[in-house]
Amino acid sequence: MLLLALLALAAWGLTALLGGGRDAQDGSSSGAADAGGSSLSAQTGGSSSPAGSSPLDAAADSSAAKTAAQGEEDWQMRLVNHTHPLPDGFTVETSALPNGLEFDSRAIGQLEQMLADGNATGLQLMVCSAYRSVERQDELFNEMLQDYIAEGYSEEEAYAITATIRTPHGCSEHSTGLAADIVAVDYQMLDDGYAETDEAKWLLENAADYGFILRYPKDKESVTGIIWEPWHYRYVGVENAKKIKESGLCLEEYLEANGA
Ligand SMILES: [Zn+2]
Repeated sequence: MLLLALLALAAWGLTALLGGGRDAQDGSSSGAADAGGSSLSAQTGGSSSPAGSSPLDAAADSSAAKTAAQGEEDWQMRLVNHTHPLPDGFTVETSALPNGLEFDSRAIGQLEQMLADGNATGLQLMVCSAYRSVERQDELFNEMLQDYIAEGYSEEEAYAITATIRTPHGCSEHSTGLAADIVAVDYQMLDDGYAETDEAKWLLENAADYGFILRYPKDKESVTGIIWEPWHYRYVGVENAKKIKESGLCLEEYLEANGA
């Protein structure tokens, strides 16, 4: 395990040094990776606690039970990251956007309203990635893992490198059905430059009114473990989104500050 962790760190360092890899992480319409787990992950979740019986899963299970007990609204605030994987067997009811991508049925109306209102002002917002099942996320992970093995890396090395780019089992926020990568029709690159588009600026300003937060802010990389993603929005409900935006905290910090 220690070796694996060291390899993961080394791989992350290499990735960071090489830079430039960012735009590949969120995958976009090619169906690739996207975060809910990009890079910095290797430091926390890189080594693969298998999904069955780790303390992490126990924590996830107990928080799921707590969520059920606390009632309807807590699904909106579900935390999924490298230390909070989705419980095994997690399912969510989804509905399809006009472009076929799926989103949590309880929140898709808000997403569509946000896109419609933004586009009514002359923008060209589009969702390039939304719900991905845990199984699909695993497929993407394994495809990349096999690619690295085919390139001559050992299995451990390949895992470590892959974990810096793709999210491990159950750890992608996209698998909740509540995350969407939203870009501009004429700027679909998932890179820092997107933040300069009118679409990104409008979202930053208005998304909370529809219940969405920028999930991976620039100044919170060390907390979220994920690089700044100006395109990745997460539904948390209107009331929560406004409070979180006003607080200036990221979701992890906000939940901790509020005793979750
Ligand atoms: Zn995303």
